Amino acid sequence: MALLTLKFGGTSMGGHDAIRQVARIISEHYGQGHRILTVVSAMSGVTDLLKQTARASGDGDEAAHVATVGEIRRRHHETMEQLVENADIKHEALTDIDTLLDGLTQMCHSIAVLRDVTPRGMDLIMSFGERLSARILSAHLRDLGYNSVAIDANELIVTDENFQDAAPLMDETTVKVRTRLVPLLEQRVIPVVTGYIGATRKGIITTLGRGASDFSAAILGAALETDDLDIYTDVDGIMTTDPRIVPTAKVIPVLSYGEIGELAYFGAKVLHPKTVQPMIDRGSPVRVRNTFNPQHIGTLLQPQAEITSGTIKAITMIKDVSLCSVEGRGMVGVPGLAGRSFTACARANASLLLFSQSSSEQSFCFIIPTNRVEAALESIRYELRSEIERRDVDRVWSRDDVVIITAVGAGMRGTPGVAARVCSALADNGINILVIAQGSSEYSISLVVATEDGAKAVQSLHQLVATEVTG
Ligand code: ADP
Ligand code: ASP
Ligand code: MG
Repeated sequence: MALLTLKFGGTSMGGHDAIRQVARIISEHYGQGHRILTVVSAMSGVTDLLKQTARASGDGDEAAHVATVGEIRRRHHETMEQLVENADIKHEALTDIDTLLDGLTQMCHSIAVLRDVTPRGMDLIMSFGERLSARILSAHLRDLGYNSVAIDANELIVTDENFQDAAPLMDETTVKVRTRLVPLLEQRVIPVVTGYIGATRKGIITTLGRGASDFSAAILGAALETDDLDIYTDVDGIMTTDPRIVPTAKVIPVLSYGEIGELAYFGAKVLHPKTVQPMIDRGSPVRVRNTFNPQHIGTLLQPQAEITSGTIKAITMIKDVSLCSVEGRGMVGVPGLAGRSFTACARANASLLLFSQSSSEQSFCFIIPTNRVEAALESIRYELRSEIERRDVDRVWSRDDVVIITAVGAGMRGTPGVAARVCSALADNGINILVIAQGSSEYSISLVVATEDGAKAVQSLHQLVATEVTG
């Protein structure tokens, strides 16, 4: 009797029809005799709503939460009404939901009075989406006759105190997860666990980063030594590029952990970049599948790469980033300038997505999210103030409205001429490349181009994607 961990994303939890479909998938696997652990995201759009409300409350807007909580209550009540017939189950679940929403209201009110929302407060508010959705699915399963219980992952996943982007402490988590979930699974209860959230050792709620319900499922699955981890989403699998940019994008049948890590890091929003991390030691198969087309086999993620002769398997794009540059004729041979600039970026809470240095050592540039660019430049200018005064560094500047386009594929390693093909594909389409950088894994080549050229660049490079992956 295998243990299957099934994760369902925001669209899959988006309304009563979708949740019915989720329950069908669960019951099919359950009917085959497997033990099932489910992990869920918030209903689509709810986490964004919560984030906006937390911000507005932090700005002192006392009324902001009233409309949001009302909207969230209406949506969850309506969905529950559609999905649960048994009066007792419905009453219990609706009471639970209302209690949660009352807590949310109080929290927003306190934040509005304080006029300050800390990352810790943000996490608490943003955790409500999953806590609500888990209760709906669990009630629906109970209504269908299954034994199910909704569990908040702050009781299971122990994290560090890095609010908004917390990392799991795997040893402690494993103990908690096994103690709580193994007895339930052995009795064939179906736990519905909230994705996205955890708690510090002191029990304070944290979140693992946007889109991290995939990661939560992998953490829980790894702790339980799951036989399979299936990430159910709203597309047939991981595709050769974002289907919203290139409608002819195709599902990639097999990808390695290394390749998916690179793809997710460089913007393929379909999977959280850390998802495969907990699975690496176990080597369990991970699949990305479509809730709304469960017959499709999806994408299989496996430890080793399959090298295809076509080399490039997928193209990604990261938007809302800026190109920062540090320049100066006096920089040649001065050690540590890049390192100090990176530390300055880190102090400004700006994560560095890409780095490139000119071979003349007279400049280096890097890419950071646009919303951190001002703080990062200020921090670098302060860090390099002596060099700037001495005129060793002439300019620290930035350019907004750029995107990072990345070509990914394990077969690129050791295949000569890939960079040349990539550059000429862009040149043939009249696209100017601002920066080019190769990933240290040699699984990827990234290019920075103007935002206005972004979609065209993805489309041009997509034509290079190996025809043999288009299965
Ligand atoms: P979920 O809520 O199920 O976690 P997400 O919205 O996080 O779903 O991720 C699925 C979406 O990712 C798809 O609807 C698709 O638009 C987008 N996407 C971006 N890049 C890719 C890609 N390379 N392959 C598949 N989907 C992609
Ligand atoms: N609900 C969270 C988010 O929107 C986590 C997730 O969906 O994976 O970021
Ligand atoms: Mg997601």
